[in-house]
Amino acid sequence: MAINGKTTVVGILGNPVGHSRSPAMHNAAFAALDMNWVYVPLPVQPRHVEDAVKAVRALGMRGANVTVPHKQAVMPFLDTLTDAAQVIGAVNTIIVEPDGKLVGDNTDAAGFAADLKAHSVEVAGKQVFVFGAGGSARAVLYALGREGASGVTVYNRSVNRALELVNDLQKPFPSTRMRVCNDRTNLVNDAHHYSLIVNTTSLGMTPDIDSTPWDETVTMHAHQTAYDLVYNPARTRFLGYAESCGARTIGGIGMLVHQGALAFEKWTGVQPPIEVMQTALAS
Ligand code: NDP
Repeated sequence: MAINGKTTVVGILGNPVGHSRSPAMHNAAFAALDMNWVYVPLPVQPRHVEDAVKAVRALGMRGANVTVPHKQAVMPFLDTLTDAAQVIGAVNTIIVEPDGKLVGDNTDAAGFAADLKAHSVEVAGKQVFVFGAGGSARAVLYALGREGASGVTVYNRSVNRALELVNDLQKPFPSTRMRVCNDRTNLVNDAHHYSLIVNTTSLGMTPDIDSTPWDETVTMHAHQTAYDLVYNPARTRFLGYAESCGARTIGGIGMLVHQGALAFEKWTGVQPPIEVMQTALAS
């Protein structure tokens, strides 16, 4: 559809944003539904974050995604934050409400949960192991708490960051026992207890494709699922090893699609065409 005076604009605030696949994913969805909307990349320098957030409203945009490095920086300039954004401590989606209020949300956690559901992975009552304690780990722990995992064990290179993560996320989810594993030998001995093992570190990501968080002297089992948030490459070393052990494997592209689809639905009120979005990301 041609851009005209009635086109509704959404976009992504970040720095840089030139590499982002989100414009392709959302514009393919708008085209498939014949919607007069457009999604544009919006590079924002750190000193302009406040102006950029205000411009989302002033320019009549319906919302925006927020990416690195502004996910925390935008927060003071929003009118309200969802529970997910507050607990995770980061905003990846801004929604402009009809009265002009700016809502900060985080769809990474719900995107992760939606992708688990799409793969029929049940975490309620299950033990989960998480590598990493960065921004995406916060979203993953939020989702695991919401979905009722019985326990979550976190291993991270920087132990203090893992302790802080568990301390922050344990409070809202007292029924999920969260703990830090700061000794790899614990994992070696207990590895078979975990039904889901999640990599939220950047280990394995292009160009560092030979790295993996997993100790390959430890086997995985057929009853286990290995989930890698890394989506470039689609099949990481971590997933390759899990597959060679007979475990189930899931890559990060599905979470990426679902977090985008959730933002799309919040802006438009329209059910997103998930398959179209997935195809656009893959091409
Ligand atoms: P952060 O920078 O917030 O965190 C990075 C994490 O990786 C930290 O735990 C860090 O450990 C760890 N790490 C980095 N390098 C090493 C290393 N050499 N050895 C051991 N640990 C290391 O990043 P994010 O959490 O935002 O993103 C992490 C990954 O998840 C990225 O690959 C990103 O693309 C992917 N991602 C995927 C999403 C999806 O939708 N599929 C959504 C969001 C992220 P330490 O604390 O010790 O530095």
